[in-house]
Amino acid sequence: MGNPKGFLKVKRKTCGYRPVCERVKDYNEVFTLRSDRDSEEQSSRCMDCGTPFCNFGCPIGNYIPEWNDLVYNRQWKKAFELLEATNILPEVTGRVCPALCEAACVLGINDDPVTIKDNELAIIEHAFKKGWVVPRPPKKRTGKKVAVIGSGPAGLSAAVHLNRKGHLVTVFEKDDKIGGIMRYGIPEFKLEKHILDRRIKIWEQEGIVFKTEKNIKKNPDGFDAVIWACGALTPRDLKIPGRELEGIYFAMDFLTGNGNAKGKKVVVIGGGDTGADCVGTANRQGARCVVQIELLPCPPIVKTSSSHEEGCERKWSIETKRFVGTDRDLSVRSIRCKNRETGEEFEIEADLVILALGFLKEEPKEKFCAGDMKTGPSLIVRAINDGFEVAREVDRSL
Ligand SMILES: Cc1cc2nc3c(=O)[nH]c(=O)nc-3n(C[C@H](O)[C@H](O)[C@H](O)COP(=O)(O)OP(=O)(O)OC[C@H]3O[C@@H](n4cnc5c(N)ncnc54)[C@H](O)[C@@H]3O)c2cc1C
Ligand code: SF4
Repeated sequence: MGNPKGFLKVKRKTCGYRPVCERVKDYNEVFTLRSDRDSEEQSSRCMDCGTPFCNFGCPIGNYIPEWNDLVYNRQWKKAFELLEATNILPEVTGRVCPALCEAACVLGINDDPVTIKDNELAIIEHAFKKGWVVPRPPKKRTGKKVAVIGSGPAGLSAAVHLNRKGHLVTVFEKDDKIGGIMRYGIPEFKLEKHILDRRIKIWEQEGIVFKTEKNIKKNPDGFDAVIWACGALTPRDLKIPGRELEGIYFAMDFLTGNGNAKGKKVVVIGGGDTGADCVGTANRQGARCVVQIELLPCPPIVKTSSSHEEGCERKWSIETKRFVGTDRDLSVRSIRCKNRETGEEFEIEADLVILALGFLKEEPKEKFCAGDMKTGPSLIVRAINDGFEVAREVDRSL
């Protein structure tokens, strides 16, 4: 621990956010990076716990107390080397991970937790600026060939680890670009896509072959092992009267450019993070108003995302009974709802409805399988870990 009194003297300071009035007018990232000086000071808040719960809380086991200490002591390069040892995409998790580590941080018991996620982001962006993030191709090739189907974080993690072991890895992706939900799902204002391109270029230089617009249906020929990492993207539907009306979209369709909220009264059904991404996107498109409704009651601690701050009415314990249209044009005009606590029935005006009700888990049949395809919808950090685990299995089998 660099500074034994750091947590007593320094208050938590996270990355800042651009003002709402400015950021809703563009799709650039909503937050601003902290200065290195601030990150060094924030790292001093880490108590270097004998039992570092942050480390257990992190699915990839990041060496959190170690890099906090190194950052405090301005040993940024060593901090970067330790970060790289566990995480293939710290520039992504440092931006969009829900930070299970911070929820587990011991300092959080009676104070605000250490800004672990922002410290991670500071280390990797410092490293990119200094030119330390360079291709590290394997010294020797094994001659074994591995195919990875799907280029989300799980597939990429498996590909990177197997390539580092010397196997020749080809990643097949059905979309036109690499990245899975990180590319086509998480909005630009949370994760600018040049961040992904910067990393993919390095992996290409390390020898991984990426083949896009390849929708693979069975194990491709000519490979010693095949890993399936196709995600879990079948959306949960809401089969109630009026579902056939126009103007009702699944969240992923809306986030990838279908439906335009400009001038519309938007209702997002589903109170989770995907729903929040839809709220932020609708506001940027110029929605007239946005309401987000959730079936479950309001939790004791309400999670407010940057998208909610940008303008959104949230309603809890709301059951959706039917979509109501007009005779004139078969478009949705309102939603008939019921408050589950009071029993009251009412209507919310809506001419664009987004269904953000989660995704269905399918039973995978393949031998080597990773990420959401195996576990059901989860998180990037879990997909990275799962890709690593399956890579270890495949490496052993080869
Ligand atoms: C809108 C949204 C926002 C999210 N935001 C966050 C967040 O902020 N933080 C977080 O931690 N998690 C977030 N998640 C969850 C996270 O993105 C996923 O858990 C994670 O991406 C799963 O990774 P994966 O590699 O298993 O699958 P995916 O990322 O879904 O990637 C699977 C890839 O396989 C490809 N594919 C599918 N079938 C084939 C085929 N037959 N042939 C070739 N390619 C195929 C797909 O096109 C896709 O590119 C979010 C999810 C959604 C839907
Ligand atoms: S739990 Fe918190 S205070 Fe303890 S080592 Fe981890 S980051 Fe530092």
